[in-house]
Parts: sequence; structure tokens; C-alpha cells
Amino acid sequence: MNDQTAKEPHVLNKRERSMIAHQEMPLRPPQTRIHSFDEVPIGYSDEQARTESLRCLHCTTPACIGACPVGIDIPGFLRLIEQGNPGAAAKKIRETNFLPAVCGRVCPQDKQCQAVCVVGRRNIPVGIGNLERYAADYERTHGLFEIPDIKEPTGKRVAIIGSGPAGLSAAFALAIEGHEVTVFEASHRAGGVLVYGIPRFRLPIKVIDEDIRFLSKLGIRFVYNMVIGKILTLEDLLYREGFDAVLIGTGAGLPRLLNVPGSNANGVYSANEYLTRIYLMEANRFPNYSTPVFSGKKVAVVGAGNTAMDVLRTAKRLGAEPTCYYRRSHQEAPARSEELKHAEQEEMNWRWLSNPVEFIVDEDNFVKQIKCERMVLSEPDETGRQKPVPTGEFFVEECDTVVMALGCSVNPIIPSTDAEIRTNKWGVILVDPTTCQTSKTGVFAAGDAITGGSTVIQAMGQAKKAAAGIHEYLMGKSNSALKA
Ligand SMILES: Cc1cc2nc3c(=O)[nH]c(=O)nc-3n(C[C@H](O)[C@H](O)[C@H](O)COP(=O)(O)OP(=O)(O)OC[C@H]3O[C@@H](n4cnc5c(N)ncnc54)[C@H](O)[C@@H]3O)c2cc1C
Ligand code: SF4
Repeated sequence: MNDQTAKEPHVLNKRERSMIAHQEMPLRPPQTRIHSFDEVPIGYSDEQARTESLRCLHCTTPACIGACPVGIDIPGFLRLIEQGNPGAAAKKIRETNFLPAVCGRVCPQDKQCQAVCVVGRRNIPVGIGNLERYAADYERTHGLFEIPDIKEPTGKRVAIIGSGPAGLSAAFALAIEGHEVTVFEASHRAGGVLVYGIPRFRLPIKVIDEDIRFLSKLGIRFVYNMVIGKILTLEDLLYREGFDAVLIGTGAGLPRLLNVPGSNANGVYSANEYLTRIYLMEANRFPNYSTPVFSGKKVAVVGAGNTAMDVLRTAKRLGAEPTCYYRRSHQEAPARSEELKHAEQEEMNWRWLSNPVEFIVDEDNFVKQIKCERMVLSEPDETGRQKPVPTGEFFVEECDTVVMALGCSVNPIIPSTDAEIRTNKWGVILVDPTTCQTSKTGVFAAGDAITGGSTVIQAMGQAKKAAAGIHEYLMGKSNSALKA
């Protein structure tokens, strides 16, 4: 053995790697975190991150990459953390995902990359999301953001409608190609659901703001308080404002509501309205901010998906005793297991197999009680799913606020003001699956507007595809709109 080899660090083999214990993400304790909107996970230390990254077996064919909607080189960035270079790891992630700090926090990794990680066959899978977050936070806090090279200006102008993950990702990809990009946003700040839906204790605002500052450095222009379909139409953008192509990234912000007596009472909100008031309009800081929210003591939350968990946990932080009402059982709750666990740690009241049938009001039409029918689950059908079946037995409980978290549909404003944009019967905008071009030439769409509601990373994956479609269209290689 010569001197040089003697100094080389020992490279762990697969057996040694598989013996390393999984590093749990440290969390703020439930007793203290329910009194603040501070982020619940504290983040890995350098040592924890390096240890967790060493658990990756560097598979010859990494299944994790295939399961990531934007195809991040996961073992590649894990190797860089292992080598003590988180800044380079963040740069590697940014090759395919320009929102790593967001995705590290909110992506459903347990259903994507971590679900297929081979380590997970016998052990807890590698904490890919926690490590993505670690690398991105390191990059941000050490000021390592780098502006990527931008190609020569093409002279083409693209209008992006909506500044959620889909709009922002497409804006980024198109700006890099040298196109002039303007983002039109209906509200007064960029970020879409990242800002008005996902609570600050899961995704701090500084993380999003930093990414948006980065986009502004690429020369992308943001126009706020601009509702396309009301103030300007698609035709205006294409023929009056002179844009060469348009991307619709308007999301799915039209709430589904329960049509039962009392649904229109005072104190009954959709989850979108409740969360928007608090997070976009800062109603939790009323009267310092002008928008109030009436979040009473007894908040009834209808539904048990991720949004319901966000509402329950938000209400708790506003000093309420929230109760979750869901017509199926705990086992069928659609929320991610981690979201449900965090909500349970924060001690909510749970009414499983309880279907709200009426919101009872007082003489001023303010909600005062919720009436539910008890349900039981049927035998599993051929798909294995058990249906909730009414029992005819009812119960009534006190409440002063109701929040319905029952999902959302695509907002119809744009399709209803342009007959050329085709949608399916649920209002979802139809696109060519390869280019994301709609039925109107030069108009593309991505994100929740074409799925009816999905995830941040799915929206970003589609936006990437749409940006490639727009680039091809602008450069004259493809110009066919979706055929009938
Ligand atoms: C409460 C909540 C929690 C969630 N949690 C998670 C999570 O933890 N992880 C995850 O992966 N996904 C989560 N999701 C889903 C995820 O946020 C969405 O799938 C994603 O944001 C979709 O991105 P988008 O860009 O298509 O739309 P959006 O994020 O909805 O952005 C659309 C933007 O378009 C703007 N807009 C709409 N209409 C117009 C118009 N006519 N003119 C101009 N602008 C317009 C809107 O104001 C908005 O800013 C959550 C959703 C909600 C509601
Ligand atoms: S599947 Fe798991 S072990 Fe294999 S490369 Fe990906 S993260 Fe590493």
C-alpha cells in the first residue's frame, strides 16, 4: 500500500451502509409548537445529514429517480452531502428542480422517491426529502444561490397566468431559454398555494420569497392584482399585448362545498377562504392587517385530507379546540400519514364515521351547532374499498366556526371567457399530453388546471413539459394545437 492510498477515506460498502441508523427529523414539541406559526421540523444538523446520506446504497438503476416527477439525480446529490458539500448538492438538485427548499418540505416523498427506495424494503427508506431540504437550506443560508446562464434573447414574449409552482417553474425554464417572460397573478403576491394554502409552520414564507427573488433576478416580470379572464382575456394577451405564447397555470382554487342546510351561514368557510384569509391576508395578525377572520373557540373541520389537517392545525394555533368530522374511518383518511400524525400529536378532537348533515344557526344566521349522522363501513367492494353507510342515528355538537375541506375544482374564469379552450366535464383544461398545448393555438396549460388538483412537484413536472412545448412552438418546430 503506498502513502497516497493509505490516506484515502474508507469508502463504505453496501453492508456497512445498511447498518447505519435512520436519522429522525427533529421536531418542535407539540406543547410549544401549537402556540406559534414557526416551522415544526427543525432540520438536520450537518452530522445528521451526512449520516443519513450514507444510508444510500447508490443502486446501479436507482428507482428513486424514476419515481421523482422531475427526475432529480437523487444518489448524485446524496453523494455530495456525504462528501460534505451540501452547496454542490443543492446545485445538483437545481439542475432539474428550481424549488428544492419547497419540495424538500412539502413533497409526498413517502408516495414517490422514498416509496421505491430499496433501503425501504427492509428498513426505513433514505430520508431523501429531509436531505433535499437540508441541502437547499444550506445553499440559502450561505448565500450560494447562483444565477444560471441565460441564452441569447430570442425576441419572443411569453405570458404566464398564475404564479403557483406551475407558473413559476415554466417562467424559470422559459427565461433560461432567452424568452421574455411576464407572470400575471390575480393576487398581490406570488407563490399560489405555497403562499395562500400551505401553512407557515410547514413552509416558512422566507423560503418562497427567496425563490421568487431569484426568479426576478432572471429578468422575469411580475404583474400583480391582474385577473386574466376579467381584466384582460387570452385574446387581449395574444393580439393586443403582443405575447407570442401563453401558459395557463391558474391552479384549482374553486372550493367544493357541502350542500346541506346552513352551508351559507355566517362562520361557515371553505378551507381555501379560511387559509387565504390567514396566510395571504395575514388575518391572524388582525387588526395590524386589514382582513379579519372569525376563528372561534369550537372549530368544526369537515374532511380528513391534507388540507383538513392544515386547517385543524392552523385553528389550534389561533387558540381554538378544533374537531375533525369525517364520514369514513381513521384508516381511510386521505391525509399523508405524516400530516395526520402531526395533527394527532397536537391533540385535535376526532369524529370518525360522522357525516355532517346540517349546520344549525342562531337568530342572526351564525352557525352554532353541527349535526352529523353516524356511519358504518360496508363490506369491501370488488376494489377492496369500503363505503360509508348511514345508520339513521344522529348527534349534535356545539361549534362557532365550520371549515369545509372537501377538495377543489378548476376555476372556470378563463375557459368561460374563451370558447376555444376545451375542458372536460369537470372543467379541467384539456391539453396535448406531449406539449401541454391546449385546443387554442399558442396557449398552453400546466399544473392543477390540467389535473384538477395534484401536488407541487407534479405541477412543476408538467410545467417543465409545457415550457419545452412552448419553446418548440416559439422556435417554429411545432405549432399544432390539441385536435378535437
Ligand atoms: C391547503 C393545501 C395544502 C397543500 N399541501 C400540499 C403539500 O403539502 N404538498 C404538495 O405537493 N401539494 C400540496 N397541495 C397541492 C399543491 O399546492 C398544488 O397541487 C399546487 O400548488 C398546484 O400548483 P399550480 O401552480 O398549478 O396552482 P396554484 O398553486 O393554485 O397557483 C395558481 C395561481 O394562479 C393564480 N390565478 C388563478 N386564476 C387566475 C387568473 N384568472 N388570472 C391570474 N392569476 C390567476 C392564483 O392566484 C394562484 O396564485 C396543497 C394544496 C392546498 C390547497
Ligand atoms: S433507491 Fe434509495 S438506495 Fe437506491 S439510489 Fe435511490 S435513494 Fe439510494
